[in-house]
Amino acid sequence: MSELKLCQGTQCHTYNTQDRVKGTKGNKTNQTRRRSNFYYGNGNFCSLNCQNDWFNAFGDRAINYFGRLTEPKHLTEQNAWVKGYDWDNRTDECQHHTINKITREQRPLTEQQYNDDNYTLNT
Ligand SMILES: [Zn+2]
Repeated sequence: MSELKLCQGTQCHTYNTQDRVKGTKGNKTNQTRRRSNFYYGNGNFCSLNCQNDWFNAFGDRAINYFGRLTEPKHLTEQNAWVKGYDWDNRTDECQHHTINKITREQRPLTEQQYNDDNYTLNT
């Protein structure tokens, strides 16, 4: 059995659902959801509600810690590259690419480059 993760929502245990009720008879409590996988917030939250609860509690501190934006960002040719892919039905293959949202120039990427979060043509 794979390791179970706990929902990181600060209020998860306060929501009344049958699947949150755990414990032995007479000792049942609502508990934080525990699953092998979650679909929200990069796999950290069982629901959008729990993700929002966390953000309301910690979001400002997280933004300040990682760097609050103080000037607007500008989209230029130098930072307009985004990754994408097309499914080719004829070859049954995925074609990865990066496309410049300003110039519309498109360049092929390997799957490894596509999956590498640090790989970018942006400067
Ligand atoms: Zn939750």
